[in-house]
Amino acid sequence: MYQSGDSMLKMNDILDEKDKRLREKSEEVTFPLKEEYKKVIKDMIEFLTNSQIEELAEKYDLRPGMGLAAVQLGIKKRFFVIVHEYDDGKFDNYVIFNPKLVSNSEEMIYVGEGEGCLSINRKTCGIVPRYARVTVEGYDENGTPIRIRAREELAIAFQHELDHLDGILFIDKIDPKNPFKNKELYREI
Ligand code: ZN
Repeated sequence: MYQSGDSMLKMNDILDEKDKRLREKSEEVTFPLKEEYKKVIKDMIEFLTNSQIEELAEKYDLRPGMGLAAVQLGIKKRFFVIVHEYDDGKFDNYVIFNPKLVSNSEEMIYVGEGEGCLSINRKTCGIVPRYARVTVEGYDENGTPIRIRAREELAIAFQHELDHLDGILFIDKIDPKNPFKNKELYREI
């Protein structure tokens, strides 16, 4: 299991889909936040940022990813980190505890090239319908309530990570018999 320490987070610290722990429902976080989690979050941000910078991803052998839920490191707690490249080489970090989806658009979208997950180490194909815009409420590291509005790929990342907290993986949302079912109902991004 992942132990936060001096060394960087590596690909093999992330649980693979075969690991049953990914199927469990994570538990609410209590405040004040454990120091241990603060360190884990720093590691997660560093990992996700490096993974999206080509030279560093290559150097450290990282698959690119924009989000990680604590449970993917074997920590069954309701929090996740998203590192969003909103412009070339510019990143925004989102860290949220006990998050809840409070509102969503009617419009639905999907990632044309297929959604990905750092816990899923194989090729997948199919459509994962997601809301185009969402509002998520939760808490920051200090236990202060926060509200985040997200759209497009960032909105998808939030929905993907929220699912992890309930033991759901994106592949669960693809119909294996008809992976592109109802494609015309959603907008491709
Ligand atoms: Zn994932």
